[in-house]
Amino acid sequence: MKNLTLPTYEDIAAAAKRIKGFANKTPVLTSRTVNNEFEAELLFKCENFQRIGAFKFRGAMNALLQFNEAQKKAGVVAFSSGNHAQSIALASKILGIPATIIMPKDAPAAKMAATREYGGNIVEYDRYTESREQRGKEIAEKNGLTLIPSYDHPHVIAGQGTVAKELFEEVGELDYLFVGLGGGGLLAGSSLSARKLSPNCKIYGVEPALGNDGQMSFRKGEIVQIDIPKTIADGAQLQSVGKLTFPIIQKNVDDILTVEDEELISCMKFFAERMKMVVEPTGCLGFAAARNLKRELKGKRIGIIISGGNVDIAKYVEFLSA
Ligand SMILES: *Cc1c(COP(=O)(O)O)cnc(C)c1O
Repeated sequence: MKNLTLPTYEDIAAAAKRIKGFANKTPVLTSRTVNNEFEAELLFKCENFQRIGAFKFRGAMNALLQFNEAQKKAGVVAFSSGNHAQSIALASKILGIPATIIMPKDAPAAKMAATREYGGNIVEYDRYTESREQRGKEIAEKNGLTLIPSYDHPHVIAGQGTVAKELFEEVGELDYLFVGLGGGGLLAGSSLSARKLSPNCKIYGVEPALGNDGQMSFRKGEIVQIDIPKTIADGAQLQSVGKLTFPIIQKNVDDILTVEDEELISCMKFFAERMKMVVEPTGCLGFAAARNLKRELKGKRIGIIISGGNVDIAKYVEFLSA
């Protein structure tokens, strides 16, 4: 990547202004049941109510709004089977920028359809024999398109940082903040906002135990690469954190915790039953970790980012009846 400058809080503040009117200001919800159970105050920042159903729309919109005329005309390319694909497709549709989305041949039909509906031109690849990074680079170079990755880009990180910025501006300082971790765009951005707006807040990144590359990297002090993890948290099914996100996380985050897939399912049930919300497995990471730390959290004010709500309905029913 040409521009390796790490984003700062100022970039997040600029991103917030830029995406205002495009991205939703999502609600902060509370549950008396949860507060009683924890003997604490938990504040849920609900990005499952963001456009496309996840926070990723913020980063995509912030990146595309900074394209110059030539970039706008040539278009954007992204590779993703999930929320980033839909975010780029919708953001590019809003701005009239042609979008090419590289998706695995065997991506869920519903996700492909949603991406197509938003106007994305889908290029399929075989995830078992082809590298999507390679494919993305080829397509970008051949056609002069700008590649926007799902996390390792300063404009994407700055956009994702607006979630925590909004949360702190609405509820004030917090003692703890729990954030799901995949490639680290959301966690890096959140940590920059937290350090600025609530400097004493403890920040925990949370990963599925089946794919704890971020935790290993954090403890080792260098990026650790793993095989594609087999977790139900598909938004965190990544092999490593990013080259840009990692140093920000290292500097600002207190620790990386892990949770089991069964704990994510238990949280999905809780959100459905008690808070009347559909939350995808990856969106449950933060709350699942907080549940394991109840004793430490007693009497505190705690922010939980619910990162998304996109889950295949048939799978969702299976999870709830498991
Ligand atoms: C992408 C995603 C994550 C992880 O975000 P990163 O910026 O890659 O760490 C978490 N939850 C949901 C719902 C996502 O779509």
